[in-house]
Amino acid sequence: MERRKTRSISVGNVGIGGDNPVRVQSMCNTDTRDKHATVAQVRQLAEAGCEIVRLAVPDMKAAKALESIRSLSPVPLIADIHFDYRLALAALDSGMDGLRINPGNIGGENKVDAVVRAASECGAPIRIGVNGGSLSKTLLAKYGGPTPEAMVESAMEHVALLEARDFFQTKISLKSSSVLTTVRAYELLAQKVDYPLHIGITEAGTLVRGAVKSSVGLGILLWQGLGDTLRVSLTHDPVAEPGVAWEILRSLGLRQRGPEIVSCPTCGRTEINLIDLASRVEDALRGVDEVFTVAVMGCVVNGPGEAREADIGIAGGRGLGMIFRKGEVIRKVKGDENLLPEFMKEIQEFLQERRNTG
Ligand code: SF4
Repeated sequence: MERRKTRSISVGNVGIGGDNPVRVQSMCNTDTRDKHATVAQVRQLAEAGCEIVRLAVPDMKAAKALESIRSLSPVPLIADIHFDYRLALAALDSGMDGLRINPGNIGGENKVDAVVRAASECGAPIRIGVNGGSLSKTLLAKYGGPTPEAMVESAMEHVALLEARDFFQTKISLKSSSVLTTVRAYELLAQKVDYPLHIGITEAGTLVRGAVKSSVGLGILLWQGLGDTLRVSLTHDPVAEPGVAWEILRSLGLRQRGPEIVSCPTCGRTEINLIDLASRVEDALRGVDEVFTVAVMGCVVNGPGEAREADIGIAGGRGLGMIFRKGEVIRKVKGDENLLPEFMKEIQEFLQERRNTG
C-alpha cells in the first residue's frame, strides 16, 4: 500500500502528512465551558490512543476556558469554530494548536485576513471541514445535491481564500454520512491538492453501525493511500472512537498499538463461556500499549492450532483451560473461575520475559 505524498503540517508537536504515520484523533462531547469535565475527557481520549483532540468552541465563555484546558492537556488541541472569527482569534490566543474553521463562512475578507494572520503567527494549521449536509445553496443548485463534485468545489473555494493569503498549513476533510459519496469526494480532491487529508464518515451512527461504516469507508480510502489523519465518529462515548480507529489502522498494517485479541466465533464444540471470557480478557488488557497477539479460543481440539500465530492464548476444555504459546500448550488451568486470573498471570509473565530479552 503506497501512501499518497502529501505536504507535512504540524498540530503542536504532532506531524500530519508527509512521512508521518496516519494520526488518530477524536472530539470531546463535554461542554467546553466545563473545564474539569473537558480536561478529564481529553485525558481519557489520550489514554485510549488519541494523538489530537478537538473541542467545540460555541461561544466566548467556551473560548475563555481554552487556555487552562490547553495547559492541562497531554495532547495538542484543535478549536472547532463555526462562523465567528473572534472565537478563532481567542482560541489561538489561548494557545490552541490548530483550528477547524471554514474561511468562506466567517463573513468577509477582513475577518479571513485576521484569522489567517493570527494562525500564521502562531504556526497553527487550519482544517477546512466540508460537510455534505452544509453546502451552500449555490453549489447544491449547481450540482443538484451534495455530490462529491460539489463537496470538492466547496473545499477548493475555501482553499483559494487561504492560498490567496499565502497560507498553506492546511488540511482538508470532506465528510458525508454516505460511504460512497465520501470515498469519491476524497478521490477527486486528492487529484487536485497535496494537502493532508483528514478522513472520516460523519454521522456514521451508533457503536456497531458507526464502526462498520467507518471501517468500510476509511478502509477503502486508506487502502488507496489516502488519509493522513482520521476520526471515527460514533453516536457513543467518544472514548470508544480511538479504539476503532486503531483497529482499522492495525487491520491494514498501517499502525499498531496494544494487544491484538483474536477470538473464535464459538460453535457446538465450545465448552466454556467464551464470549464472557473474551470480553473480560479485552477489559483486563485495556491500557496495555505493548504490541502482541492474544488468542481466546473455545476448544482445545482446534483452538491452539487455529491460533498458532498468537504469542499467547487460552483454549477451553471441559472444566479446564489450556494456556498455550505459539500453538504449544504450556499449562492446564482447572475451574472456570480460575481461567481469567491464571491467564492474566501468564500474560504478565510473557510480557516480562519479552521485556527482559529486549
Ligand atoms: Fe469451534 Fe473450537 Fe473453532 Fe472455537 S476454536 S470455533 S470452539 S472449533
